[in-house]
Amino acid sequence: MLCAATILWLDVCKRLVIVGRKHYFCGKITDIMNDFSEKLIAWYRKNGRSLPWRETKDPYKIWVSETILQQTRVAQGYAYYLRFISRFPDVGALARAEEDEVMRLWQGLGYYSRARNLHAAAKDIVARGCFPVLPEEVKTLKGVGDYTAAAICSFAYGLPCAVVDGNVYRVLSRYFGLDEFVDTAAGKKTFASLADELIDKNRPAEYNQAIMDFGAMQCVPSSPDCSVCIFSGSCAALQKGTVDVLPLKKHKTKVSSRYFSYMYVRAGAYTFIRRREGKDIWRNLYEFPLLETSGELREEDLPSCPEFRSLFGGLQVESVRLVKPGVKHVLSHQVIHASCFEIRLSDSAAELPGFIRILAGDFDKFPVPRLISRFFSLVLGSEI
Ligand code: SF4
Repeated sequence: MLCAATILWLDVCKRLVIVGRKHYFCGKITDIMNDFSEKLIAWYRKNGRSLPWRETKDPYKIWVSETILQQTRVAQGYAYYLRFISRFPDVGALARAEEDEVMRLWQGLGYYSRARNLHAAAKDIVARGCFPVLPEEVKTLKGVGDYTAAAICSFAYGLPCAVVDGNVYRVLSRYFGLDEFVDTAAGKKTFASLADELIDKNRPAEYNQAIMDFGAMQCVPSSPDCSVCIFSGSCAALQKGTVDVLPLKKHKTKVSSRYFSYMYVRAGAYTFIRRREGKDIWRNLYEFPLLETSGELREEDLPSCPEFRSLFGGLQVESVRLVKPGVKHVLSHQVIHASCFEIRLSDSAAELPGFIRILAGDFDKFPVPRLISRFFSLVLGSEI
């Protein structure tokens, strides 16, 4: 009886025949795998990036780096990683920190649930007494999925766990000419099984790093330079002319538009902020009073705007100034069209119900979304 992995491989080989690579049927499956990983590792030894988290076997540092690098390019994440590890050199230091400080260090990276989960999981690890080792145990940490668990277990402990991220989907789908969707359960299973078969069991960490770097540096999403690729003689997508269409995705990301008008309120030396709650974006970060409307607000719209009246009803508004209109802030599933108004109140002792009154000069002590940081810089004319 054939095992699942062999069936998968026969399936892959059939696809290779379809794309005109019949010679693979004549060779052994293990030869194909060895050839792929040998070439990949040789490429990595020559071209791979030297990064601080690759110099360590500490699962905590690897976990932090991999969490930062989800949804973030290495060039952007590098400085964040160094700052984070410098402030929280071990899991205990992170567990003891206040959440606001963790979020402040994460400010600007986006996808803030990553930071909240890191913090919660650090407390969990401290409660357990040690960092988990087996992939199934690592995956029980908050925010840790298959990819991060495989990265930690292979890089820190040398376990043969294959990483499968966007880079890996791209390389495998193109090299093998796989037309499976990468965003369906069935497609994910196929790619995960293939990746598990391909990983070099003797050098899992190096193999994983190699395929991730290869996807990030050589087999890039658009217009890869296939003429200089180590696989130019055997890549199915190149032979079939499908490089630009692979990997296949079934679902298109739906992007919605939202209209935010932020009120930078001044009452003497004070301003007002609040912590965002609920399941919306930027949870637990701070922001100025916000009016969310179905379209952009102009300065002349404010006095008649019900949300504005409800916010400032009973207070003496001295002046209203539109500081910055029409800023487009793009997130993965939303485009925020944002404006910032400066509102001056006559009474320096005024309070805004539901908001924290702070000295404007203390603003940079609070973790805020990048959009708010930009607005604050504009109104103050200073960078945070
Ligand atoms: S030949 Fe082109 S598409 Fe194929 S693996 Fe290399 S870079 Fe990617």
